[in-house]
Amino acid sequence: MGHKKVERIDPLTLALPACGADSHAHLDDEAFDADRSDVLARAEAVGISTIVNIFLNPLEFSAKKGLFAAHSNVAWVLGIHPCDGLRFGEDALEALEKALREEPIVALGEIGLDYHWPDCPREVQLALFARELELARSLHKPVVIHCREAEADCLTVLESHGFAGYPLLWHCFGGDQSLARRLLHNGWMISVPGPVTYPANSAMRSAIATIPDDRLLIETDCPYLAPHPWRGKRNEPAFTVFTAHAIAEIRQQQVEQLWKMTGDNCRRFFGLKRDPLSSV
Ligand SMILES: [Zn+2]
Repeated sequence: MGHKKVERIDPLTLALPACGADSHAHLDDEAFDADRSDVLARAEAVGISTIVNIFLNPLEFSAKKGLFAAHSNVAWVLGIHPCDGLRFGEDALEALEKALREEPIVALGEIGLDYHWPDCPREVQLALFARELELARSLHKPVVIHCREAEADCLTVLESHGFAGYPLLWHCFGGDQSLARRLLHNGWMISVPGPVTYPANSAMRSAIATIPDDRLLIETDCPYLAPHPWRGKRNEPAFTVFTAHAIAEIRQQQVEQLWKMTGDNCRRFFGLKRDPLSSV
């Protein structure tokens, strides 16, 4: 097999109208410390008008929310990530509740189950997940779900806690048609990340073709999971243009239409307006 050199296309050459959204970014990550303002400028230049930044725990939130003080197009989501279940206990849950009550945080997340990494025992994750779900319901906050190699348990928890029909976004969808059908049946939204562009993920692509227009969002999960042709490099919101082109092709939709539709879905789900500073 030959190793063809990948041409790293500049995302600016694929710029779209200024109404796109990255529904799941970690721009507070230290991977962006050297050039965060350039990353935000590139996102705007390719047509991203909304970015949802997920803070992984209340400590990170209080330390880093100020990074976005001048960026009204960056919305905040906060939760305690399942992999951090051992690091954070009652104090963190109290801090989470306080932040959700006092700060303009649009959803509780990412929360859920991760059986891929050995960081946190399953019982601890399950207990934390249940607590965070209760908190979300009591504060009427939408939830953003992280589920890795734990689909059966995650669905059992959500369905048994009565979250069918609750405003819920299944982040980083990588499943097949049967998982998509189950999520859609529960009334939930599905966010698609960059790996949709990887050749091996054909089951995921056929699932994405079946998602109704009003349930589909696009995300980076940056700095991870860069789409082709930037696979293996640091991901950033501007790269959603590659993901959008791939999804549009799978769904046989015009990319501009998909871009606006997924951007509008993201803003509707999180209760956001277009950036008031945006010219569009
Ligand atoms: Zn994430």
